[in-house]
Amino acid sequence: MATKAQVLKAREPRSAGKSLLLTLPIALWSMLMFTGWFRQPNRSQQIAGSVTIVFMSILFFMMMRTWSTYRWRRGFFVALGLLFPIGFIHNVIAMRGTMGIPIEEMIAGRTPFCYLPIPMLILPAALYKTVVFPGSILPRGGMSGGGMAAMVAIWLAITIVVGKGWCSYACFFGGIEEGMAAVPKTAKLRKIDPRWRYGPWAVLLAMVLLSLALFEPAYCLWLCPFKAVSEYVAARNTVGLVQNGIFIALFAALVIVLPLFTKKRTQCAFFCPFGAFQSLFNKTSVFEVKIDKTRCTPCVLCQKSCPTMALTEESIAKGEALMSCMKCGACIDACPKGAAVWHIRGTEVAANPERARLMFLYAAWAVAIMFGGSIIAQGLTTILHVFV
Ligand code: SF4
Ligand code: SF4
Repeated sequence: MATKAQVLKAREPRSAGKSLLLTLPIALWSMLMFTGWFRQPNRSQQIAGSVTIVFMSILFFMMMRTWSTYRWRRGFFVALGLLFPIGFIHNVIAMRGTMGIPIEEMIAGRTPFCYLPIPMLILPAALYKTVVFPGSILPRGGMSGGGMAAMVAIWLAITIVVGKGWCSYACFFGGIEEGMAAVPKTAKLRKIDPRWRYGPWAVLLAMVLLSLALFEPAYCLWLCPFKAVSEYVAARNTVGLVQNGIFIALFAALVIVLPLFTKKRTQCAFFCPFGAFQSLFNKTSVFEVKIDKTRCTPCVLCQKSCPTMALTEESIAKGEALMSCMKCGACIDACPKGAAVWHIRGTEVAANPERARLMFLYAAWAVAIMFGGSIIAQGLTTILHVFV
């Protein structure tokens, strides 16, 4: 177990030189990931690639220099959440002329595949060898892009490493509500019924069964709040209008209004079926968040800071976060005793929390650059096209 002196030392700012040295592998990884961007003749792409490399490296440097993880990660995550729709909507409109996908295009499978429907595909695929999504499995170019197989492979690789950390380092939707939750200084709505935590599981179960019964991606067609900022079914009749009305209402309530009132990621914590599904993989990831019971007072500051209500008094007493923990680091940063710690499964709790933090952050930031970095750069390119 780390001594009190070691815990306090881990909270003192590192020297700039040591922080730079620790950032070097990340800076090199960023440059490697963006090599292709510099071969493009397009000046906007070159600038966007350079800005993204510098941005991601500075954030990592700050995570090394300070003991704080959450606020620097949030900088990346909010940028990802805001720039994804800009790049995506621009591409959709350039190729199709509208954000609304006509039914013929959908039937022809010319629709891009995001990771949210993955849990809804598994049962129909296992029982009936059917993929209940109108996209292409292999790369086809155009709107269907790299195909489902590529997205599933990316999801699997990232999930094996970070588990539900996907929801803090890879999801290109969660940043909008995290940004909204950061706006108010204090929460206006503090008392939230803990039973809302079961919301994502209920939505997941309902959507898996509906997708199986209807042979269609029920969540994408009826409940995804992010259709409001990506693409939606072209509203040619009453059904289409109702679908789009639901998307907009859910987006406004769960992604904008409730995060402003609660300071929580309400869509992620109380609704997202993909998030519930990802929770299962927290059991397979080697990285986790633990509470060192010998050091915990328990003041519950960690519980209050958690944006997804993944800590309870009972879980703190047991020394762990709930399986819905998305490894954002807010609780660890908030703990005044150094009792909330990063942990590598199979090692002694709090034996060397800073080493566990470093190992997790290298893995998570490599993922963030590889997957989210290109999305950030794409959004920046779209903006730069206007000026360059
Ligand atoms: S338990 Fe800690 S790391 Fe996990 S989601 Fe809550 S604040 Fe983030
Ligand atoms: S903030 Fe730290 S000391 Fe307080 S309850 Fe959480 S782990 Fe324990």
